[in-house]
Amino acid sequence: MTTTATAPKQTMAFQAEVAQLLKLVTHSLYSNPEIFLRELVSNASDACDKLRFESLNNAALLESDPELKVRISFDKDAKTLSITDNGIGLSEQEAIDNLGTIAKSGTRDFMASLSGDQKNDAQLIGQFGVGFYSGFIVADRITVESRRAGLAPEQGVRWSSEGTGEFEVAQIERADRGTRITLHLKDDAQDYLNAYKLKGVINKYSDHISLPILMEKEEWKDGELISSTDPEGGRQPGGMVKTGEWETVNQAAALWTRAKKDITPEQYDEFYKQISYDQNAPLASTHNRVEGSTEYTQLLFIPSKAPMDMFNRDKAAGVKLYVKRVFIMDDAQALMPVYLRFVKGVVDSADLPLNVSRELLQESRAVKAIREGCTKRVLGMIEDLAANDADKFATFQTEFGAVLKEGLGEDFANRDRIAKLLRFASSTTDTTTVSFADYKARMKDGQDAIYYITADTLAAAKSSPQLEIFRKKGIEVLLMADRVDEWALNYLHEFDGTPLQSVAKGAVDLGKLQDEDEKKAAELAQTEFKPTLDKLKDALKDKASDVRATSRLVDSPACLVVQDGDMSTQLARMLKQAGQAVPEVKPILEINAEHPLVKKLVESSNFDDLAHIIFDQALLAEGGMPADPAAYVKRVNALLV
Ligand code: ADP
Repeated sequence: MTTTATAPKQTMAFQAEVAQLLKLVTHSLYSNPEIFLRELVSNASDACDKLRFESLNNAALLESDPELKVRISFDKDAKTLSITDNGIGLSEQEAIDNLGTIAKSGTRDFMASLSGDQKNDAQLIGQFGVGFYSGFIVADRITVESRRAGLAPEQGVRWSSEGTGEFEVAQIERADRGTRITLHLKDDAQDYLNAYKLKGVINKYSDHISLPILMEKEEWKDGELISSTDPEGGRQPGGMVKTGEWETVNQAAALWTRAKKDITPEQYDEFYKQISYDQNAPLASTHNRVEGSTEYTQLLFIPSKAPMDMFNRDKAAGVKLYVKRVFIMDDAQALMPVYLRFVKGVVDSADLPLNVSRELLQESRAVKAIREGCTKRVLGMIEDLAANDADKFATFQTEFGAVLKEGLGEDFANRDRIAKLLRFASSTTDTTTVSFADYKARMKDGQDAIYYITADTLAAAKSSPQLEIFRKKGIEVLLMADRVDEWALNYLHEFDGTPLQSVAKGAVDLGKLQDEDEKKAAELAQTEFKPTLDKLKDALKDKASDVRATSRLVDSPACLVVQDGDMSTQLARMLKQAGQAVPEVKPILEINAEHPLVKKLVESSNFDDLAHIIFDQALLAEGGMPADPAAYVKRVNALLV
């Protein structure tokens, strides 16, 4: 190759995160070193995809070399292995930027989440995707020579590093467009200087890459005669000798274009791992060719583990868009609703134009049809897990149950299907496996609503004063502590004809579940107790919008509720913490007239202090914080003394 340095080289330091990552790569991933080849071939393939895409608008970029491919070769004497592509290439600045820093968002969070435990960290690193840097698992020096498509031959670049603190870059002349990565193999990685071994690794990880991967053909060459006295020959093996001819060593057909029956489960899993950076096999997959008014192929996976940043709704979705096998874009958000952003996979459309932009995608009718089709398939996959694989469905719930709930507010067309797939904890069970249908089947005679409570934690929900009357009457209440619960449940008013009712909103109306005596007692309390309630209202006028007697409490003196339709105090608190403006809603204080503390209050000489204590304690009981904690402590201490 004609690559001569034409400018002095510069030495530069890696970004601190890269240096740290490199250490981890070489120490944590050594147990599975062969993944380096998968990563480098995948980068080469991405580089070719990018060039193919850019050349749609600028055919000159292909120069006189339009057939995109990856070549793998090795040199036993020099102990080097190289991966060469004729893709988009790198300019000098791109080499500095892309191979010296990590641009991925979340790098810092990722670094912080590492535990120091090699096995765990290796898993995490696998998920994060170390890409190019994985070369340093097997190499003690990596040289990258590249020229960006469209730049002149003198504007090539050579990048080189030993994978410790720094790297060198120099401008070089390079006739060929694209990138060659040369690995100077460590002593314990010399087994990669072997065509058979390399083919095995390619077959395992890179078979589905749609680009041809080429290796030089070798021939067995006889060596010298060792013994002329042995008539059988007795020749010394001459070894394999390169022939100068190149052969394609992978299937070179994008996996999703192949017939389902020709694809093994292992191949699906491997493809998933490749596109998702996940080391674990997926929980479920679906592969279909859809024909009709819009034509496309979908290959979609549900991972078995949620990503670290799953609750970032702006996070790019995981579905790649291809048009007639040409890669168009990663993370095509328009292809999947936001609440299914954990799905990974590929959609290959036969109808979209090759130059489709993100903006165009948003408006396209074909894309809308694809999104609807993909949504149905994914819900189908989850339903299938629910019906046929309890273990996997439980994993799904743990990892993605909360995100799925967002669908109630986002996807009205599929709301009923989504509601059926949700599972909850409840006041009468210890597991988080209760569906609305299970709940309905266990409803008491005369019960006409599905009761639920939202709280910051399951423990807080479970011990909430609002549950007391339900517990006394043996009525099950669904416990909800996911952040999205309250928002999502706003959109679900009923399930299969039965209304949903929050036990922390509005007055309790147990309807037919309350007997006549109980109703009378409640009414009586309301009138007899009126003077005390009025006094309380006055004492707490800055804190409570109303004070009333309640029959929902058994062991607690008081609790807070909000009007039907108002935001719960818990949601308001959460939004405030997130820095959002929240309309000030004063809760209603409900009093248990039967409680000794309340009875004491009626005759108390320090009525106001006790009133404030009761209010603040009701707030504490639901996980809130008194507006003036110091005043609260002072009042309680005065009582204790
Ligand atoms: P990732 O591929 O996840 O972005 P990598 O560390 O593997 O991270 O690569 C970093 C960047 O270096 C890539 O995003 C790409 O811009 C560039 N790069 C790596 N390999 C090549 C290649 N063969 N040709 C062109 N650019 C490459």
